[in-house]
Amino acid sequence: MALVRTAPRLTGADASALARELYGLAAEATELPSERDQNFRLCDASGAQFVLKIANSQESADVLDLQNQALSFLANSVASLEWPRVVASRHGRTIEDAGHLLRLLTWIDGVCLADVQPYRAELLSSLGAALARVDSALESFSHPAAKRAFYWDLRRYALARPHLELLQPERRALVEPLLDACDRLNWDDLRDSVIYGDANDYNVLADPSGSRVAGFLDFGDMVHSATICDLAIALAYTMLGAPEPIAAAYQVIAAYHRQRPLTAAEQDALYALARARLAVSVCYSAWQMREAPGNEYLKISSAPAWSLLQRLADMPEGWADEVFHRACEDGGQDDRLLAARRRSIGPSLSLSYDRPLHITHGWKQHLYDARGREYLDCVNNVTHVGHCHPRVIEAARRQMARLNTNTRYLNEQLTEYAARLTATLPPPLNVVFMVCSGSEANELALRLARTHTGRDDVICVDAAYHGNTTTLVDISPYKFNGPGGRGKPPWVHMAPLPDSYRGLCRGADAGARYAGHVADLARSHDAAAFICESAVGCGGQTILPEGFLRNAFASVRASGGVCISDEVQTGFGRAGSHFWMFETQGAVPDIVTMGKPIGNGHPMGAVVTTPEIAASFANGMEYFNTFGGNPVSCAIGLAVLDIIRDEQLQENARETGAFFVAGLRELAARHRLIGDVRGLGLFIGIELVRDRETLEPAPEETAEIVNRMKDRGILLSVDGPYHNVIKIKPPMVFAKSDASRVIQALDDVMKAEWPQMHADGRR
Ligand code: PMP
Repeated sequence: MALVRTAPRLTGADASALARELYGLAAEATELPSERDQNFRLCDASGAQFVLKIANSQESADVLDLQNQALSFLANSVASLEWPRVVASRHGRTIEDAGHLLRLLTWIDGVCLADVQPYRAELLSSLGAALARVDSALESFSHPAAKRAFYWDLRRYALARPHLELLQPERRALVEPLLDACDRLNWDDLRDSVIYGDANDYNVLADPSGSRVAGFLDFGDMVHSATICDLAIALAYTMLGAPEPIAAAYQVIAAYHRQRPLTAAEQDALYALARARLAVSVCYSAWQMREAPGNEYLKISSAPAWSLLQRLADMPEGWADEVFHRACEDGGQDDRLLAARRRSIGPSLSLSYDRPLHITHGWKQHLYDARGREYLDCVNNVTHVGHCHPRVIEAARRQMARLNTNTRYLNEQLTEYAARLTATLPPPLNVVFMVCSGSEANELALRLARTHTGRDDVICVDAAYHGNTTTLVDISPYKFNGPGGRGKPPWVHMAPLPDSYRGLCRGADAGARYAGHVADLARSHDAAAFICESAVGCGGQTILPEGFLRNAFASVRASGGVCISDEVQTGFGRAGSHFWMFETQGAVPDIVTMGKPIGNGHPMGAVVTTPEIAASFANGMEYFNTFGGNPVSCAIGLAVLDIIRDEQLQENARETGAFFVAGLRELAARHRLIGDVRGLGLFIGIELVRDRETLEPAPEETAEIVNRMKDRGILLSVDGPYHNVIKIKPPMVFAKSDASRVIQALDDVMKAEWPQMHADGRR
């Protein structure tokens, strides 16, 4: 880095004088930024423009000759791009010596990539293709000076190692493994050639529209190296300038590979090299900062590299590397997947979004697709403690490696889990049955209720969903009254959905009045059970009005029935204020059913009931469930409970949920499209209406918003009887900053799409 200290220090007047003296050029000189040389832009009276390049005093004439030769070689072989032309001096020399070595090049027009961010997809493709053309051409170029020991040559990454000690420990921990990874590369398998070596966002020029690469500048980093380093360097800078770094890299790689196919070894090395370039850069910045401690610019300029390095480190293991490889496969992978799915998967299973997502990885509250996009997941309440939580994975791995069998042996995991689970519930809910899904839990709950009461009929609420089995479809109006449904069977009785926004009863006494409907049904039909979610998910994230469950449960019991709380969607702390959503109603059911979040994605479920009901069920017919309660499931269930406690996720649901709902209500004050915002903890619904008086639902707008939000990297879903409720039920590690991002994006989408529904919008 001594080179920085030996950079020339000429003034503009000096440069003008040299231009006149050596090139006969009468021109104004303006200095351009450069790390180790000095460059002046010259403009003569005719408007012709040049760059006067004054080399670092350590630069050898050989290396300058390498650049000059390469430039004329590329001008001849890659005519689709613009190249600076080397202008000979009055003495006929292409390199002059005036204390410092200097050269004059013609100016090429264009906008540097730094000025056209965010990059358009076609620009990224154009960059990949342009660089591939350059690399292909340079395969047949050689120059003796190219084989040099040069610190920016990525093959010489180890030269950066001594500077690791200048980094703070946590930063060093970020960077050192990236240099180590280069030690493990099979360098001998990589093709080599002279490379351009510096496709950064100030050196690559785009056409004025920012859609096509027009040319490259600054050939001072040319070196004989592994050819793939040229692309790796370009990718490091592409990622630095892109909001979605891996997706941007995908575009560049795909276009490069189409033009100049990468070998398997190059594909394997590419991500490691792109990251190594960032690592090397921050090492050299640290070194420069030590050399010039007062230089604030150095600190500022390395900040984006640090934040990118951190961001890449936070991505799921293996994902970006996989995307880099995938970019080298032919396109159409998603089309093939879709066709294969259509051939072999039942068509009754739909895909989300207009253009389906191909998700390959998950981490915390994020999902990651096959082409490098990261999504904020506001929907998956199953992965309760976050996607791929390491403690859940470890618990599963350890128990699977040890034993997985059924529950007909004595086993610590089962009893420990049952004890831990019942400890979260109010008495007398202390007998546990382990099952494998929410549907199995509700099925069993119905059997418990029927056996206990000797009755068959069931009361449910309108728009409810309780599961996918024959019997559960029969008690799910969401299904039996939906497309393909066969209507309500005679043994099912449907109470109105306790919706105090657009439902039958509104106002302060809505809860008691809705409970009155349940009471009427309970009295007139000898019902075995009343089943209700503690906040109705498929019904449109309906928050039950105060007093509903307490009153409904009392009258159902008075009529001899039992009360089932379906906590499949809502349980395990999501409510924030309470561990179970029914507790927010001051009610205690006779049976609680659990699923989804219980195993963080592992298929498990549970039913918890009273000793009395459990005793009635033990009528001689055994209840056996092959997989329910197996030790692996129990180990996972225990890990989930531990994580909820250790990471204070219920507390997070309370705080983040309240913050989120408050922000959404503030948004509703500005967008008439938002009719209602409701939620408890991280169980939130946004109901969209075209008219706040008539409450005319806005299903098309809702679908549109959800698709637009997906394009912005935010995943939401739609539900409710009128398909006009945006459902939000994210992994419980969701942060306030995530909530703010969702609110901002919703604001932007709605302002752009329905300005007339915006308070300060114009018609
Ligand atoms: N109950 C409710 C409230 C549900 O939302 C669901 C699933 N969406 C189920 C039960 C059924 O759970 P599973 O799909 O795990 O069988």
